[in-house]
Amino acid sequence: MYVILMGAQGSGKGTQAERIGPQLKLVKVATGDLFRAAIAQKSELGLKVQSIIEAGDLVPDELTSAIVQVRLAQIAAQRSSGDDVAGALFDGFPRTEAQARSLDEILASQGVSLDAVVEIDVPREKLIDRLSGRRTCENCGAVYHVESDPPKVDGICDKCGGKLIQREDDTPDAIARRLSLYDNSTRPLLDYYRAKGVLVTVDGDQHIDKVTQDILAVLQK
Ligand SMILES: [Zn+2]
Repeated sequence: MYVILMGAQGSGKGTQAERIGPQLKLVKVATGDLFRAAIAQKSELGLKVQSIIEAGDLVPDELTSAIVQVRLAQIAAQRSSGDDVAGALFDGFPRTEAQARSLDEILASQGVSLDAVVEIDVPREKLIDRLSGRRTCENCGAVYHVESDPPKVDGICDKCGGKLIQREDDTPDAIARRLSLYDNSTRPLLDYYRAKGVLVTVDGDQHIDKVTQDILAVLQK
């Protein structure tokens, strides 16, 4: 089974990926992780990625796809050698329609195809609430939320007694800008997958366990 998980920052996508992957025996494929691994291995692709990232540029689609292709070939090999692996769960990839098309080609070349694209939908105002309530310990980096996960003493880190601050990225203006960027880049992708009939939307504005249940229900259908 090959599944893409999509959702804006604050939608809980990362948490859901951590839960759903192991349950369905899907290997998580996140490009950030793959880039770090390739750089650590000093593979030919890894060295290319490293020089691009060090120059402050975005890794181009072709290189990203090449790295994903290598990882998917490894997963296919694990499956055919009888390992307990059922496929892949994509988190944060594809990000562009070009990447989506090349993912289709890579999967087709391995004789498989995408089973579902799950969009975790959370209303914009809720995302802003979730993200702008975040407080970070300036000493140890622990993260709290003023409503859903407050510290025992207001403004003070439970773990180390450090001062809790709101990061510049977490101000409502900065969050609104990031969310618009996400919308603009993701809308064409959602349209692409909707047209292929593989897009399903799950309500992300409910308890985290219920969101997991809903995603599993959709995928096990
Ligand atoms: Zn702390």
